[in-house]
Amino acid sequence: MKSFLILSLFILIGTCSTPKYTTKIQNIKDSITLKDSLLVIKYANTITSQELKIHLYEFASEEFEGRKVGEPGQKLASNFLKSYYQNENIKSPFGGVNYYQEIPQSFFSNGIKSTENVLAYIEGSDKKNEIIIISAHLDHLGINNKGEINRGADDDGSGTVALMEMAQAFKKAKENGHGPRRSILFLHLTAEETGKQGSDFYTRHPVFPLKNTVCNLNIDMIGRVDDAHKNNKDYIYLIGSDRLSKELHYVSEKVNNAYFNINLDYKFNSENDSNRYYTRSDHYNFALKGVPVIFYFNGEHNDYHKPSDTPDKIDYPLLEKRTKLIFATTWQIANQEKRLVSDADNEFLK
Ligand SMILES: [Zn+2]
Repeated sequence: MKSFLILSLFILIGTCSTPKYTTKIQNIKDSITLKDSLLVIKYANTITSQELKIHLYEFASEEFEGRKVGEPGQKLASNFLKSYYQNENIKSPFGGVNYYQEIPQSFFSNGIKSTENVLAYIEGSDKKNEIIIISAHLDHLGINNKGEINRGADDDGSGTVALMEMAQAFKKAKENGHGPRRSILFLHLTAEETGKQGSDFYTRHPVFPLKNTVCNLNIDMIGRVDDAHKNNKDYIYLIGSDRLSKELHYVSEKVNNAYFNINLDYKFNSENDSNRYYTRSDHYNFALKGVPVIFYFNGEHNDYHKPSDTPDKIDYPLLEKRTKLIFATTWQIANQEKRLVSDADNEFLK
């Protein structure tokens, strides 16, 4: 009886001094306060399926010849993005008319010609030195040996036009006095299809210090529905959200629960998932440098990496809703009082 009492006391003291993991997680969840709900909805609603569709039909048009890295079609795609940001009066982080981070041919070993990442930037207000990077890749597979153009409407035209619409929404908000507190970099990466080389280059030569980079939200294919969700298409796969920052994961969940209620499917986030998608798009280069990431992905489909990945097969209302989710998540991260913390620095987890 006595020893039982002592043991109970020990357990009690032990429990008090070291909160249980579930308590720590609850403390993280409770620490998140959603910002600016009405403004988030107002500016998210400027993102429309009509505009996404117009942009995507241009970006995935045959004129761009499948956007093969370093080739004329990819250069047209880069110029298309640059012209868009200039017309929208959304600045480059380099200033002036230079929106390109040039990657010299010498960076590549496999005969790829020089190419460029395309960068647009919305400067923050009181916390402008902290940067949120939203990315999507601009390149695709080019023309196959039968002469067919790989138009890459979903891969990754969908992510590309999502960035364009989000940048416009943040710009409108800023013009009306509701600009983000932290800065946002819209990063259109090249050479993803050849092995994530555009993001490899960026993370070796970051335009803003990586230690000031709060997180990377990477989008690669968000305009389609995979076979597993044929009958419940209101979903998106999230990969990596809890790997480096539990706070990022719960911010993402809280924003979704408050505004969208999309089924966030974590099937491919499993550490032992055989597809290893966590390593397979540009966010991974940021994660390797310790930057918290989320990868947004609709899963593979029959047209994946085929000339039949065309813009008529995109579900535009779904693309709109997913883009709004990423916009609202970015808004929260850009405007919450404290910078998002990685788990290594999170007091709640100690
Ligand atoms: Zn892709």
